[in-house]
Amino acid sequence: MRVANYIGGRRVGSEAPEALPITDPGTGKILGETPLSTTREVDRAVVSARRAFPEWRATPAIERARILFRLKALLDEQRELLARSLTREHGKGVAESRGELQRGIENIEHACGIPSLMMGEAFEDVASGIDCEVFRQPVGVFAGITPYNFPVMIPLWFWPYAVAAGNTFVLKPSEQNPLTHDCVVELAETAGLPPGVLNVVHGGREVVNTLIGHPEVAGVSFVGSSAVAGEVYVRAARAGKRVQALGGAKNHMIVLPDADLDGAAASCVSSVYGSAGQRCLAGSVVVGVGNAYDAVRDRFLDRAASLRVGYGLDERSEMGPVISSEHRDRVCGYIEHGISEGASLPLDGRDVAVPGYPEGHWIGPTVMEGLRPGMTVAGEEIFGPVAGLTRAASLDEAIELMARSRYGNACSIYTASGRAAREFRYRAGISMIGVNIGVAAPMAFFPFGGTRDSFFGDLKAQGRDAVRFYTDQRVVISRWS
Ligand code: NAD
Repeated sequence: MRVANYIGGRRVGSEAPEALPITDPGTGKILGETPLSTTREVDRAVVSARRAFPEWRATPAIERARILFRLKALLDEQRELLARSLTREHGKGVAESRGELQRGIENIEHACGIPSLMMGEAFEDVASGIDCEVFRQPVGVFAGITPYNFPVMIPLWFWPYAVAAGNTFVLKPSEQNPLTHDCVVELAETAGLPPGVLNVVHGGREVVNTLIGHPEVAGVSFVGSSAVAGEVYVRAARAGKRVQALGGAKNHMIVLPDADLDGAAASCVSSVYGSAGQRCLAGSVVVGVGNAYDAVRDRFLDRAASLRVGYGLDERSEMGPVISSEHRDRVCGYIEHGISEGASLPLDGRDVAVPGYPEGHWIGPTVMEGLRPGMTVAGEEIFGPVAGLTRAASLDEAIELMARSRYGNACSIYTASGRAAREFRYRAGISMIGVNIGVAAPMAFFPFGGTRDSFFGDLKAQGRDAVRFYTDQRVVISRWS
């Protein structure tokens, strides 16, 4: 079945001659196909969003929020169905899918607070008899472009805030797994979201470029790999739009000798291999400081080797497949590259097989040891179930190692020392920091986004930044004499 676009409150079959298959990464079965929609279809979606804007903007914020409250209730009712659908099209374990939905719903809950979040400021007598007020107003039509690894949660980082604030929205979801979010769109319609407020156009690069260049689009929220994020940022900024573009990651996890080493190893393993490593907050390089190295290495290897790889809907599985056979080849290519650069491979997941699922895109937990700065596998994002282990003589050296990375999304420290943790936080230069936490994921009411090549822009996703990004300010200075 070909997934339809959603334009002006109607499901519209795409006129595109080309489409890409949507595959269950565990079984290899085709679940549907994503049309590569045309420029004309993007234009129709933007026009429908622009037409819906004046009435939606004039709808009181509390009424806009009520629709989101209803959507949240509907999502709660459908949670299990949605989680299973998400696992089928993404591959992640069903418990992880439930977690993703939960995080997505939390963004809707936060956006429901828009009447207070969007409130302005006022001050009397800025000069004698003169008052000053600041109002936050919606801006117009926003576009969202999202990746495959959190196909439900990441769209919910964006459009609920944008529409709660009175804007209208055009979303281009990942072409690899757009089906579950499509069910969310249906629920949004049932909840009462008026036609044209949220539109969805499926496709790839062409749709993205048309959206970014469209004169009626005021701003762009993007999440994906750094190469594309950087390109989207430049293009959108050049076209005069506000833009937030979240990119890739290479997250370091630093283990100090005074850490709870069992706890640290367990936390690192779950960070690296959760979602088969396809998370922007996944740990990628484990740095053992001093004599922590050997202790954490052994514990890490034991735990990683014991993870049960399997189909995501089987509750006993601890790690699912990667998204596609192409991505599997890419990850395996990195492993081979690491070996050619001199890394050793104490755990090799390349030949893993899952009985009953011969067509799945499997890679087992893999560990590369002996990473050195300058190696490709030490610097580039692999985005698969591959850990790199490396040593540092001191916390200083570990921080310097991280500083060489072009990425700055997340990092973690494991220690019993408040002083070391404070030093780490102070100097890391990275946005999302875990202290004895392996996945430093900010909740919906905090900002989400990195630094360096992991983020292009200034206002991040979620939190108060989301409201700032989707609104502009009007300052009114009045004298009534
Ligand atoms: P991707 O960059 O391939 O695709 C992201 C989106 O951009 C998709 O909708 C895709 O259709 C579109 N796209 C792809 N190539 C394009 C091009 N040349 N021009 C215009 N648009 C293009 O990313 P992905 O493989 O879907 O997702 C994985 C990446 O996303 C990883 O790098 C991961 O770290 C990153 N990510 C980052 C965060 C974060 O918060 N920083 C969160 C999730 C994922």
